[in-house]
Amino acid sequence: MKHKTIIEPFKIKMVEPIKMSSEEERIEYLKKANYNTFLLKSDEVIIDFLTDSGTSAMSAEQWGGIMIGDESYAGSRSWLKMEAAVKNLTGHEYVLPTHQGRAAERIIYGYLGGKGKTFISNTHFDTTRANIEFSGAEALDIAIPESNDPSLIHPFKGNIDTQRLEELINEKGAENIGAVILTVTNNSGGGQPVSMKNTREVSAICKKYGVLLLLDSCRVAENAYFIKHREEGFENKTYEEIAQEMFSYTDGSAMSSKKDALVNMGGFLSLRDKKIADACTNLLIITEGFATYGGLSGRDMEALAIGLKEVFDPSYLEYRIKSTAYLGNKLHEMGVPVMLPIGGHAVYIDAKKLYPHIPVNEYPGQALACELYTKAGIRTVEIGSVMFGKYDENGELIPAPMELVRLAIPRRVYTQSHIEYVIETFDEILKTKGQTVGVKIVEEPEFLRHFTAKFEKVETDNVVA
Ligand SMILES: *Cc1c(COP(=O)(O)O)cnc(C)c1O
Repeated sequence: MKHKTIIEPFKIKMVEPIKMSSEEERIEYLKKANYNTFLLKSDEVIIDFLTDSGTSAMSAEQWGGIMIGDESYAGSRSWLKMEAAVKNLTGHEYVLPTHQGRAAERIIYGYLGGKGKTFISNTHFDTTRANIEFSGAEALDIAIPESNDPSLIHPFKGNIDTQRLEELINEKGAENIGAVILTVTNNSGGGQPVSMKNTREVSAICKKYGVLLLLDSCRVAENAYFIKHREEGFENKTYEEIAQEMFSYTDGSAMSSKKDALVNMGGFLSLRDKKIADACTNLLIITEGFATYGGLSGRDMEALAIGLKEVFDPSYLEYRIKSTAYLGNKLHEMGVPVMLPIGGHAVYIDAKKLYPHIPVNEYPGQALACELYTKAGIRTVEIGSVMFGKYDENGELIPAPMELVRLAIPRRVYTQSHIEYVIETFDEILKTKGQTVGVKIVEEPEFLRHFTAKFEKVETDNVVA
């Protein structure tokens, strides 16, 4: 059968206009933003691929839920709905609502962390790492070696290296392990999934040594899609059942609901152990809010409870994963170097390969982000030496291992024709790649420089026709 177009499994009831702009205007906007896509105004952007976090379009049912949100301080009806939805999914007895993922992380890693503790993950997301390190503990990433090769095809590139895990537990002493954290899908590792087999093995190792296993479950529904279609024995399970099984191997979970719960703000911490949950509830009340809202409005909790169910709709998940893969595979076929296989929520371009004439200290990823914006108003983010680069004692750049640009796809927001527009833009990017120049940093803050650094285009005659 001929491959059919992946149509959006929804109709549009409400629209949000996109402000169109000309290339001349965008050249000016980008100059004013100092060639940093974080400093652009959203009205200056046509297609916003900066992040998939908090950018989902809510459904009519979620908007309906917003209207019936119960804003009672304690014991809100909307909280009870959210709590039931989270318990049904995670099977964890204790649920703490938080305003977003990092609030849950601050609480649990503040409690479990501290000097001398080690946390081990496939890859700690940056806020996860920051909260762990802020507590004085260390965070070690041990994804399988295959995850470091951007063009290598492997069905579960997000898996943790279980042999290394056991070695590390023995090396550090089980009593010094704060927790093992499985990030599903592995966001910083390209949105690559973790298999159920890997989860079971990790769980068995954690049980053997009495170490806590937590799930960073932001994209657990997208991960379930990959398991159903790539792992033997899951063909006839529903996506929700697969996610439930994954949670069943864990002692707790932190979720930024701004991803797979299809809301613009929200999160939670779920736990099996009463002692840990009680301690975390105390911390929650000190900085976030009472235990039945934790910094969320009743309406937020109502929408979150609905989103957590909607995300497991097979038509939605199929559209979600296939449309991301459609963009990534088209770019791959055109000769754009992309990370393979295509992950769940984003397409990553290998800018070092695309622009071999731009040296890493002229930030090829930032150059591509600028090109995509100028040519078509597409906003992306560099994930390379701008984000992770450091300097040695002589002030020379120590580059990141890869120079990537991430096209993160907001959920239910863009249509197939928006995606076609992005693909057409890459045609031009390829045609003019020899004339693309790098950038230099003219001003930067001490920490997290990618958010506010200022750049200039480099003057160079190093261009090829
Ligand atoms: C987004 C994210 C977080 C942090 O969540 P926020 O809601 O942004 O605070 C943690 N882990 C992963 C894997 C994420 O993608």
